[in-house]
Amino acid sequence: MKAVVISSPGNLEILEKPLPVPGRGETLVKIKYCGICGSDLHAFTSGFLPPDLTIGHEFSGIIESVGRDCHGWKPGDYVTGNNIIGCNKCSSCKNGQENLCSDMRRLGITDQGAMAEYVLVPAKDLVKLPKDASLEMAALSEPLSVGLHAINKVKTNRNDHILIFGAGTIGLVILTLLKHFGAKSVTVVEPDPARRNIAEVIGATKTIDPLINSLDSEINKLTDNKGMNVIFECAGLPETIQEACSQGSAGATVVVLSICYQPVELNFLSLVTKEVKIITAFGKTNEEFKKAADMIASGLVDLSPLITGLISLDKIAGAFHDHSGGKIKTLVAF
Ligand SMILES: [Zn+2]
Ligand SMILES: [Zn+2]
Repeated sequence: MKAVVISSPGNLEILEKPLPVPGRGETLVKIKYCGICGSDLHAFTSGFLPPDLTIGHEFSGIIESVGRDCHGWKPGDYVTGNNIIGCNKCSSCKNGQENLCSDMRRLGITDQGAMAEYVLVPAKDLVKLPKDASLEMAALSEPLSVGLHAINKVKTNRNDHILIFGAGTIGLVILTLLKHFGAKSVTVVEPDPARRNIAEVIGATKTIDPLINSLDSEINKLTDNKGMNVIFECAGLPETIQEACSQGSAGATVVVLSICYQPVELNFLSLVTKEVKIITAFGKTNEEFKKAADMIASGLVDLSPLITGLISLDKIAGAFHDHSGGKIKTLVAF
């Protein structure tokens, strides 16, 4: 089978690998679509993954074969699956928090990923899709579940003024979910005009270019000088995390779910006197993944504005080399 690896920093290769055989509790999934994630692009430039590891973790497909003890699963089932593979034994997993598993495996990072013609996935981490589901859209279950997890952490409500930093995939799925759940306003901060445009198509109350406009005055206008009630930080820069923490109203919650590699300096004086809560969110649980997949399959949310590219496998190297601002989610069709 064909499988995509990052053979060295900046180099993508399509290798011919043997077809894996599902072991106990495992299924072999024939991939239909796999999305290119920001984390794949980061691995591509930094080259931190083993050179023979198949990348990819945002997938949909059809079960090809099943190993022993995969009750309820059969060849031909339409599926997507959680890339976070919990050990099922630790206290986090027993608590339903696979995203905090102490012995976590992840497709495309620790285990062979889904940017391949076939991938092995434990049956416990799969979600079955109805036969009329769009497998193209279902490949976005993974990023949607990340947004859902972040929103579940803070429990937003309809009276909240909400601010999102960054209109990449995760910022835009959070925007889509907030439009579905309801909020007083949702403002998106994003320097790239093409990305702001997509946020407007999805229905952002306002988009702000932080390179041109003063965030303070825009936010004061929108909130009667009170500040934002909930802020999602999805940009991942020290400055955006600092800015996110400074735009909260009294009692606001800041959810940091971006991956920022540098340390961030924060002045806690105004955070303490306004009792601003800073919380973090990482990954998603199996329950949230299933909810996200069901939301897409049932048409509760429409993520089609996020799909900015649909390519065949032979075009994948080009997609990694040219991932400029306006490109949100590129799906590889197998
Ligand atoms: Zn991803
Ligand atoms: Zn565990």
